[in-house]
Amino acid sequence: MLEKRDALIDTTEHDSLQTADAKHLLHPWADLSTLGDENALMIQHAKGVHVYDSKGKQYLDAIGGMWCVTLGYGHEELIEAMASQARKMAYYTPFGDVSSAPSAQLAEMLAVLTPGDLNRAHFTTCGSTAIDSAVRIAHYYYAAQGRDSKRHVLSRRNAYHGSTYLAASLSGKAADRTLFQYESEFVHHLSSPQYDPDIAKESAASRLQTLLDEMEAEIARLGADNIACFVAEPILASGGVLVPPQGYQAATREICRKHDILYISDEVVTGFGRLGHFFASEAHFDIVPDMIISAKGITSGYQPLGVVMISDRICDAISAGAPEEKPVFSNGYTYSGHPIVCATAIKNIEIMKRDGICQHVREVGPYFIEQLRTLIDSDIVYTVRGDHLMACVECWTGDEVGPTAKNMALAQRVDQYCEQDGLLVRPYENLCIMSPPLIVERSDIDRIIATLGSALTRAQNDLR
Ligand code: PLP
Repeated sequence: MLEKRDALIDTTEHDSLQTADAKHLLHPWADLSTLGDENALMIQHAKGVHVYDSKGKQYLDAIGGMWCVTLGYGHEELIEAMASQARKMAYYTPFGDVSSAPSAQLAEMLAVLTPGDLNRAHFTTCGSTAIDSAVRIAHYYYAAQGRDSKRHVLSRRNAYHGSTYLAASLSGKAADRTLFQYESEFVHHLSSPQYDPDIAKESAASRLQTLLDEMEAEIARLGADNIACFVAEPILASGGVLVPPQGYQAATREICRKHDILYISDEVVTGFGRLGHFFASEAHFDIVPDMIISAKGITSGYQPLGVVMISDRICDAISAGAPEEKPVFSNGYTYSGHPIVCATAIKNIEIMKRDGICQHVREVGPYFIEQLRTLIDSDIVYTVRGDHLMACVECWTGDEVGPTAKNMALAQRVDQYCEQDGLLVRPYENLCIMSPPLIVERSDIDRIIATLGSALTRAQNDLR
């Protein structure tokens, strides 16, 4: 059932908003070939799993904002948590030995939710700054023990870790590496660990062994004494929902332990319920990393927040020694542990627990994947992959596989038809990526599948 258009929307504003946008905004990840075009989708208003443009058209948001809106839009309790903290105290410095109630309370809640001895939270402003901070902490940790040579960082091709200089350098999507400069001296990319059982030409065990051999070889080449950390998303999200072969996370964790390399798990997307657990590392993949970073769903996208969860072992090492020998831990941001942001995260976690959101995802997630897989019957779907509420459909015209110009144009067309029919999916290369709010019901999933299915049929007919 479509909801009624909100009466507050002023559609007369639409044209002037598009003009302002076209003239003055440089969007993140902008397509510069269309810079200045007055055709931005102006999202103005949102409720539940739906967003509305400035003309009042409703869309089912199968992107969850940007993997982040987990409890849905317009959640009154989150809004009230933000407002009430703003009334009490909007901001005070978190530096040095000054604290605020929301940041201390949130840190304590996170220590309970994270696995193992990851009991200390270092707050940042987003996922990128959390990655940046985690790598800096890894460097600091080894330097504090007089092991400065441990500075190299292992990442993977097709990874996405964010948009600061270091996070972008760790990211490994070839298409994003044009014209910008990257740190290449101490950042090294292993192969993308994607394993897709539907289309793979080798067994999962054999693929896993190849990946592990490559990792061992790279460690031998660089020397374990020169490597600080391995940074890894449990499932590579923005790179195309790439799921590694079974056992990959645990085996790479073991290699890191063996060589004394810190394992940093990037749970910006997989954290806070998307795979049916607060953190996927232990619950879904049976590993306890040295650090977990997260962001996005930690506040349901209502406020920008990133966090590095750090093990007691690391904290003990960096805080050991006589006070006069210890330098200041010079990392952090004006808005680290921002009171309004932390109050929002606390309420978000409380609601998630009270409403059994992780359990809900464990119920609807498999249904989502199962229903999406029915789309494999379409001639223009090469494959469908995902886990719980993160998934994608890979398009192809039937000849070459992958992000060719023809396949990418096809996915764009599917995306346009979805948008016309009131569904937002995220086009990336030749993929349609989906990460709906965690509150989606089976009926929402049915609508996503029906709309996407019809868009695929229309795009396929256009090929004839
Ligand atoms: N890590 C992962 C896995 C992400 O998907 C993202 C963003 O999409 C980031 C890090 C960067 O987060 P942010 O955009 O909040 O800086």
